[in-house]
Amino acid sequence: MIIHRATMPTTSGENDSMTVLPRQLTRLTDATLADGTKVDIEITGDTVTAVVPAGTRGAADADSVLNLDGFLVLPAPAEPHAHLDKALSWDLIDPPMGDLVLAIESWKAYSAEMTTASIADRARQQALAMLSNGTTAIRCHVDILHGDDPMRGVRALVQVRQELAGLLDLELVALAGPTAPDALVHEAIDLGVDLVGGAPHLADDPDGDLRRLLAIAAARGVGVDMHTDESLHGPVTMRTLTEVVRDWPATQPVTAGHCVRLGTLEPEELDEIVAEIVRSDVGIVTLPITNLYLQGWEHPVSTPRGLTAVRALLDAGVRLGAGADNVRDPFNPVGRSDALETASLLVTAGHLTLDEAYAAVSTGARSVMSLPAAGPVVGARAELLAVRCVNLSDVVANASADRYVIHAGRLVAHSEVTRHIAVPAAAPQNQNLPLPTPSPTASILETR
Ligand SMILES: [Zn+2]
Repeated sequence: MIIHRATMPTTSGENDSMTVLPRQLTRLTDATLADGTKVDIEITGDTVTAVVPAGTRGAADADSVLNLDGFLVLPAPAEPHAHLDKALSWDLIDPPMGDLVLAIESWKAYSAEMTTASIADRARQQALAMLSNGTTAIRCHVDILHGDDPMRGVRALVQVRQELAGLLDLELVALAGPTAPDALVHEAIDLGVDLVGGAPHLADDPDGDLRRLLAIAAARGVGVDMHTDESLHGPVTMRTLTEVVRDWPATQPVTAGHCVRLGTLEPEELDEIVAEIVRSDVGIVTLPITNLYLQGWEHPVSTPRGLTAVRALLDAGVRLGAGADNVRDPFNPVGRSDALETASLLVTAGHLTLDEAYAAVSTGARSVMSLPAAGPVVGARAELLAVRCVNLSDVVANASADRYVIHAGRLVAHSEVTRHIAVPAAAPQNQNLPLPTPSPTASILETR
């Protein structure tokens, strides 16, 4: 991975403008679209302004041209539900493995010791890891913490958002647990958080806590993104959510994350609630890697997957985004910070098609996040991911690390893979012959 923000010397001692990032681009050449066509893509500022057959345009300024021969170009992924304030804490905490309640206990004990600077450091590192893999927009839930200074996380993420401005879009949600006073939710909004969030399913009175948080959002004229019904057998607050927000204006977008309980409802009740979700235009976010980890510990056989009802939601026309949620923290010890990992899980654990899976981590996620349309389409934002692959199944299955990442028309990350592979020798014809001499190692830049 190479992320340079200043001019870096090359081995020859000269400055190489090709390695200086970010770099404004005006043209992508010889790119392959998902339908297999080879195109050149013109970019003006942060917008795609032309997509034409490859090689049909005249010369352009070499410094702003990127040749993408051998690369598939896709809308860049967006992460609709991250916890950058928690990310990368697994090794620091060394928590026991287990379910949501156990993870919350581990996190509470550790979070009491965190400083604004330490939160910002992990959040920045995690956001850049996601950016290097292609994610150019992140919605991050940030805890309203306990103790004397409950705004440590909020201040850290507001700072990181400023630092990363121009490299990626970062939306912030105040994660107000059931014991977080109203005044602290207001304070988080005053400090720059965009949306109100919470986890009402953890409250003694889930509907009451949900209505409390929705009332704060309504009073402040902001949208909400709720952790919703994150359990296999617990309460169903989705009905209340869809009822309360039904007449909210588009300026107050509504998102429900996890929605694990929807995945365990009987079909009749599920159909009824999905219809309410459609009527209220609530965006749904599914988070396969974390809910595959957190749910089902009490079911040693026929272990449920813990995902929401992705097929029923998609078939009903609900806006569906998918993300990773937690990465290497008490809520999920693993994760590659790569939307292609989430897309792959949507295929295997959620039974989505490859197209549906990639849409959920890119265009679907952007829709849930109220971001403008993006991708290699005229008029769309130039938020693009180019992967050295031949088609979408190759992208999702192999997730080559050989990538270019473009945010708002600028190249912001570039990863290059070099593989060393032993060349297979011809099999000996006679068992009595000596074994062949090992072949020299072939060093190649990843090409397939
Ligand atoms: Zn979450």
